[in-house]
Amino acid sequence: MGKPHVMAIPYPAQGHVIPLMEVAQCLANNGVKVTFVNTEFNHKRVVEAISQTGGVHELISLVSVQDVMESWEDRNDHGKLADAMINIMPQRLQNLIEKINGTESDEITCVITDIYMAGAMDVAEKLGTPLKNQLIQLSPSMPEMSTQNFAWSCFPDLTMQKLIFQAILVNNKLAELAQYLICNSSHDLEPGALDFLPNSLPIGPLLASNRLGKPSGHFWPEDSSCLEWLDQQPISSVIYVAFGSFTVFNEVQFQELASGLELTNRPFLWVVRQDITQDIDEAYPVGFKERVKNRAKMVDWAPQQQVLSHPSIACFLTHCGWNSTTEGVSNAVPFLCWPYFADQFLNQGYIVDHWRVGLGLERDENGIIKQEEIKDKVEKVLSDGSFRTRVLELKEKTIAGVAEGGSSLKNFDKFIDWIKEY
Ligand code: UDP
Repeated sequence: MGKPHVMAIPYPAQGHVIPLMEVAQCLANNGVKVTFVNTEFNHKRVVEAISQTGGVHELISLVSVQDVMESWEDRNDHGKLADAMINIMPQRLQNLIEKINGTESDEITCVITDIYMAGAMDVAEKLGTPLKNQLIQLSPSMPEMSTQNFAWSCFPDLTMQKLIFQAILVNNKLAELAQYLICNSSHDLEPGALDFLPNSLPIGPLLASNRLGKPSGHFWPEDSSCLEWLDQQPISSVIYVAFGSFTVFNEVQFQELASGLELTNRPFLWVVRQDITQDIDEAYPVGFKERVKNRAKMVDWAPQQQVLSHPSIACFLTHCGWNSTTEGVSNAVPFLCWPYFADQFLNQGYIVDHWRVGLGLERDENGIIKQEEIKDKVEKVLSDGSFRTRVLELKEKTIAGVAEGGSSLKNFDKFIDWIKEY
């Protein structure tokens, strides 16, 4: 029997690359060789960020596959990307596997690939699309979902919605071929959803702290100066504000957010990606930076997992990406939810209605979250200690799952044994 050699293929987005890289690091720590495949564009960014912040395990080799998007195309066009991943990528991956198997001594023995989005989707197939606008609940242990907020419904035009919906259906069909569906989740977080996936193997939450390392796979170098800044702030005082890698704001909403943070009169750490809004240098309200300079820090990209584990953090204003959600829970940080698209509305449902560890922000009649709403909800979440108590309880259960004897760790060990035997 040859040595196990895993090929890991994430969906080409930040929130998919980081957790799969975490799996790769865990596999490598268990002596398994991993070839990690990024699209050319992302490969360059990951290698560049790693060269500034530290390397990956020697058993992991980072390789690239030709991009499905041309250099001039908009990488945030999710419809086009999802379509290309289904129609163009499989052939390119096949070529890559054949090339590796033809040249390397250890052939690929197992492929771990991203399912993209699973869960409730096949129900939609049964119900048919388009769906009526209504609330549905798939299981008593899952939050209610509005059909309006289904992963594909949040996209602006019908063509894109159809492309995403088709991609999800194809992915779910193909997922039936998989031996296991390893999930960045745990039985304590979403038992009902996992019951829908009989061959699922929850191994999460996948966090760098589970193996005492640094996360890798970032598309941008992290600005660690915010950790020193956090050291200067009082315990449980700082609002951490970050919206993941995709979320964008129009000028009005960006200004309203800035003014809302100013209005709280509290310290805040805000991740302002260069592409979060148009013309970032001109986007802030006049005089904002000067007025908040003694209690605020803005960075392009933060070492988020370390930030969330810092004792100065009081709450997390988030877009509710699944990684951000599990990272917040694992560090017992109460949430303020500002979902943008995809699974983020469902994740908000878990946070607000199901686990009751945070509050949602309401939009006004023009779809804007106003500064007063931001201030009010910050005050509410921070003045009611029950959010902190519940998130602490959830953290303890969740972290126990990845500790010695926990269900996620047992699942991971089972998966490693399977890879090594195969
Ligand atoms: N992240 C980070 N620094 C930042 C913002 C985000 O390291 O300043 C990381 C975060 O810890 C998470 C990932 O980027 O692991 C974002 O994934 P998520 O699923 O939350 O959101 P997405 O980017 O997919 O919308």
